[in-house]
Amino acid sequence: MRTAAVEYIAATSVDEVLAALADGGTSVLAGGQSLVPVVTRAGAPPCRLVDINRVEGLGTLAEVDGYLRVGALVRHRTFESDVVGGPLGDLLRVVVRHIGHPPIRARGTMLGSLAYAHPAAEWPAMAVTVGARLVLQGPDGRRTVPADSFFTAPFRTTRRPEELLVEAQLPVLPDGTGIGYAEDRRTTIYPQAAVMAAITVTDGEVSAAAMCLVNSGPYPVRAACAEHALFGTTLSDTAIAAAAQIAAERDTRLLDEDASRPGRRRAYEVLARRALRHAREGAGRCG
Ligand SMILES: Cc1cc2nc3c(=O)[nH]c(=O)nc-3n(C[C@H](O)[C@H](O)[C@H](O)COP(=O)(O)OP(=O)(O)OC[C@H]3O[C@@H](n4cnc5c(N)ncnc54)[C@H](O)[C@@H]3O)c2cc1C
Repeated sequence: MRTAAVEYIAATSVDEVLAALADGGTSVLAGGQSLVPVVTRAGAPPCRLVDINRVEGLGTLAEVDGYLRVGALVRHRTFESDVVGGPLGDLLRVVVRHIGHPPIRARGTMLGSLAYAHPAAEWPAMAVTVGARLVLQGPDGRRTVPADSFFTAPFRTTRRPEELLVEAQLPVLPDGTGIGYAEDRRTTIYPQAAVMAAITVTDGEVSAAAMCLVNSGPYPVRAACAEHALFGTTLSDTAIAAAAQIAAERDTRLLDEDASRPGRRRAYEVLARRALRHAREGAGRCG
C-alpha cells in the first residue's frame, strides 16, 4: 500500500498554527484518531498537517461564570472523572464511556470530535443538547458560534479553513436536571441511532427540556416538538411515551428516505423513551 506525502509542522504557539492554516490546504492534527486513518488511506491526496499537541494554553479545563471551558487539547478520557459537579459532570461521564475504547479516549480530543463533525459522534450531540458555545480563532481574532449553528452537513461546519477551534464552553446545567443517553450500536465505531436528554424538573414539573437525536440526519438536531410536549408535565410514563412518539414521528424529519425508514423511526422512539426514563431518575434532585 502506498500512502501519500504528508508535510508535517509541529507548532508551539497558536500564532504558528494560524500561520500554517493561513497558507491553505492544511489540517489541524489533534488526537489524530479520525485524521490519521484518513491521510494514510491508500490513494489519499498529499496533505499538510499542523500538529497542535505542543501548543501552550490549549489544555484549559475550568469553570468560569457558569460555563465549563474546554480547550483544544483536552482528551476524551479527562471526562471519565469528575471535572465538574452536578448534572453536566454526570452527562459528560455517561457520554464519554460510549466513545470508542480506552486508547481512542486517551488520544482523541473533544474539540477534534466537534471539528470532525461526524453525524453519529457523541460530543457534537452533547454540545447541541446543552447549548454549548464554540470559540474559533482566526487571523482577525476570535468569534463564538452556538453549537446548533456550527454543524452544517456530515463532516462540515461553519469553521473557516484558516480558523482553529480553541475552546468549547459548556453551560453548567442547573440543579434538578436529569440526564439520559441511549444508543443502538452494532459496531465499535459510532452508533446507528442515539438519543440524548437533559430534563430539568422544578416543583415537580418539567421546566426545561433538551433532547437531541443522533445520526437521524446530517448533523445532531434538537427534538423540538418532543421537548415542547414535555414542558409542564410530571415526566410520568404517559408523558414520556407521548414525547418519545412525537420525537420519532415529527422530529426525525431529516431522516434519510430509505427502505428501513419505519424501523429507524421505531428505534428513535424506543431510544427516546429509554433516555427520558434515565433522565427522570436524576430530574428534580437538588444539591
Ligand atoms: C476505532 C475508532 C472508534 C471510534 N469510536 C468513536 C465513537 O464511538 N464515538 C465518537 O464520537 N468518536 C469515535 N471515534 C472518533 C474519535 O472520537 C476521534 O478522537 C475524534 O473524532 C477526533 O478527535 P481527535 O482529537 O483525534 O482529532 P483528529 O483526528 O486529530 O482531527 C479530526 C478532524 O478535526 C480537525 N481538528 C481537530 N482539532 C481541531 C481544532 N482544535 N480546530 C480545528 N480543527 C480541528 C482535524 O483537522 C481533522 O479534520 C472513533 C475513532 C476510532 C479510530
